[in-house]
Amino acid sequence: LGNSYTKVFEISMRERVLERLQLEKDLRQAVAIAQDPQNQDPQNQENQEFLIYYQPIVSLKNMRIVGLEALIRWRHPQRGLISPTYFIPLAEETGLIIPIGDWIMRNACYQLKSWHQRFTNAKDITISVNLSPKQLAQDDVLDKCLNTLQEIELEPQYLKIELTESSIMENPNFAVSVLRKMQQAGINIYIDDFGTGYSSLAYLHKFPFDGLKIDRSFVNNIHADNNGTEILQAIISLAQSVNAHIVAEGIESLAQLNYLQDLLQEGDGQGFFLFRPLDLKGIEAILQTSM
Ligand code: C2E
Ligand code: MG
Ligand code: MG
Ligand code: MG
Repeated sequence: LGNSYTKVFEISMRERVLERLQLEKDLRQAVAIAQDPQNQDPQNQENQEFLIYYQPIVSLKNMRIVGLEALIRWRHPQRGLISPTYFIPLAEETGLIIPIGDWIMRNACYQLKSWHQRFTNAKDITISVNLSPKQLAQDDVLDKCLNTLQEIELEPQYLKIELTESSIMENPNFAVSVLRKMQQAGINIYIDDFGTGYSSLAYLHKFPFDGLKIDRSFVNNIHADNNGTEILQAIISLAQSVNAHIVAEGIESLAQLNYLQDLLQEGDGQGFFLFRPLDLKGIEAILQTSM
């Protein structure tokens, strides 16, 4: 019995290793396409395997779209659309997140600039870009951001960088100095998935940041009877006490929206109940009309 069990285990291990190797090879190919000098026109994305979905962020006060979060997808030639939760960890481990992150930054900023120019209602909206721990650790992370903004002629105040507490905590001294310089340049810093990191309270006052995105697990706990919201309320008071802007993630129901609207005088929301992440066509249809 022990033997056959071991054998099954070995086969599945081997399969997993092979699958990972194949995925890594495919990811390198996708990056090569993104880096190909022939594919650098942001207006022509037909050859790209990466694409960006955009999820609106809405003011809870007046329900207007105030920004968009750029969320990467991978259009795998055989497997179809792959979620970032599946390939971003591999991209992190292999370092491929650096060229992928550069690609996202440039293309998302380019799109925002083009929407500012084309849609009169969208002139003030911002773009939120997720930055992974590896990216934050690069010496040239700030220069790259600023060069991209300059190339695209996008004012820094339209760019919001999202990072998690744990990515700051990997090298807090370096991260804090980079984030401070980003802020000085006019870029806004948001802490993503706030409340899920272990370090929240002890380090919060040391981080340079403009806003907190409350993790969706806390918003999920809002039920019709208003039970289970103690931690959410504590996080909101905490954010307010340090003058941080608040974005509530993962709003999935009207009850959750109403609850947050009552609790937050200022503040934004994001979630499937408001808008799902949308592809280019989908988001342009919305920016064009219902703002
Ligand atoms: P995140 O930055 O916290 O992004 C929010 C995620 O929550 C998105 O998942 C979004 O689709 C999902 N979401 C939004 N509203 C709701 C809701 O109401 N309910 C539920 N259940 N989910 C909701 P997505 O697009 O799969 O991205 C997952 C994560 O992958 C992101 O979490 C982020 O950490 C990472 N990611 C995505 N794009 C990038 C990128 O360009 N660079 C890096 N470094 N990471 C990225
Ligand atoms: Mg995010
Ligand atoms: Mg988040
Ligand atoms: Mg997340």
